[in-house]
Amino acid sequence: MARYTDAVCKLCRREGQKLFLKGARCYTDKCAITRRAYAPGQHGQGRKKTSEYGLQLRAKQMTRRYYGVLEGQFHDYYEMATKREGKTGDELLTILESRLDNIVYRLGWASSRAEARQLVVHGHFNVDGRRVDIPSYLVKPGQVIAIREKSRQSAKIKAVLEQNRLVPKWLDVNGETLEAKILALPTREEIDLDVDETLIVELYSK
Ligand code: SF4
Repeated sequence: MARYTDAVCKLCRREGQKLFLKGARCYTDKCAITRRAYAPGQHGQGRKKTSEYGLQLRAKQMTRRYYGVLEGQFHDYYEMATKREGKTGDELLTILESRLDNIVYRLGWASSRAEARQLVVHGHFNVDGRRVDIPSYLVKPGQVIAIREKSRQSAKIKAVLEQNRLVPKWLDVNGETLEAKILALPTREEIDLDVDETLIVELYSK
């Protein structure tokens, strides 16, 4: 399946909430959701009835797009979540949060998950002292992520570090050494995505 190539702001407007797909612009009043808070297209402002299936599908699509994951991989994460002890929906979100590209974004080392993915692929980060260039690499508590020595001079990375975004409590970042320890993986309450994850579980359980 090909990656989505149309205007990404349409995805946020379709889901009716910010998915933070466009970097710094998402934090300004230029954000398309702020300007046009309705779905794109000719009938975007019309009233819509949504079936149960429609709600489940939207929840899945929104979550998938928020994390920038393709359908097949998203379903694999769901299967992985069903084998864990906790609630499947919660576990699914925790797995998505533990992707290396998401961690880089959460640390404020990239302005969007798409940019984080690109920086990871270009080999700008170490995990426990070893270069990792796989965006879907799942980190574990206790591991240390660092911006590689040479990459600290990258104009892109320097610019994003200046944005000083808020870092979640489950990550312990050192702004001097540009290293961060994963203290724990986040609980559902610590994940700021406004989605009913039980709808995704219902969709896949059919
Ligand atoms: Fe979504 Fe960012 Fe575009 Fe706003 S600016 S609609 S949050 S991608």
